[in-house]
Amino acid sequence: MTHSMYDFSRCKLCATNGASRTYKLAKTTVYACSACGFHFIDHLDSLPAESLDNFTQALDQKAWDYIEGRLPGNGKQLKGNLSLVKHHLSLSGAYCLDIGAGAGLFPHLLADAGAFVHGIEPQGIFREFAQSKFGIYLNRETIESRHWQLGFTDFFDVVTLWDVLEHVNFPSETLQNAYNVTKPGGWLFLDTPRRDAFYYRISEWAYRLSGGKSSLFLESLYSPLPFRHKQIFTLRQLVQLVKSIGYSVICLRNNVLQPQNKMVLVCRRP
Ligand SMILES: [Zn+2]
Repeated sequence: MTHSMYDFSRCKLCATNGASRTYKLAKTTVYACSACGFHFIDHLDSLPAESLDNFTQALDQKAWDYIEGRLPGNGKQLKGNLSLVKHHLSLSGAYCLDIGAGAGLFPHLLADAGAFVHGIEPQGIFREFAQSKFGIYLNRETIESRHWQLGFTDFFDVVTLWDVLEHVNFPSETLQNAYNVTKPGGWLFLDTPRRDAFYYRISEWAYRLSGGKSSLFLESLYSPLPFRHKQIFTLRQLVQLVKSIGYSVICLRNNVLQPQNKMVLVCRRP
């Protein structure tokens, strides 16, 4: 599909033509689907990401310091995620795929725990960092590519999607493709912001009450820049989606008071 040709009145979740422009923000427009209630913006990243490498900076000292400086904060969260994974299975000898691996910290933690690790990261600057800092090789091919879909069918014990679904062009395809490379009985772990959170709701109220003049946090929750937030799920939408793909939901954490109002799902391929 040519992404520039995508008709945004077609809902990215339920594929009906029920979506319409609902929140006009400074840099982007949020579409809402009248059939399923899904919210997504009128932007898609152009992929393959090779073309985007031209727009990203080189891994110079400044970029290195920036990425490294963010590791402790991300590390705290990712170590919590690792505990969650280890709570469900032993990582020793397990084949793991981290989709959207960023600077490679989570693959590094998995490798430390004895797992065989593969990772996907479309941004060259992060792949380079992961290689230099952790000695972790990350793959540039995204999950829908033949590399994964043909080469790793029913392969992985564990697939992780930390903060990924809100960034990808088509989250249902990403989940389906993740399912395809998971072995029967294998695990999916993911987290993503949730839309049915207080700060999102008050932003919607503010938008309506001000006739579109104020959108509070909506502006910061979405961005048309490459690899930024394109959609935000409600808990119900996400659970319904993973079930429709075939996953069993094993455990879900949806405490609205969690940092960044995230929801965490643990699923299994039957
Ligand atoms: Zn829909």
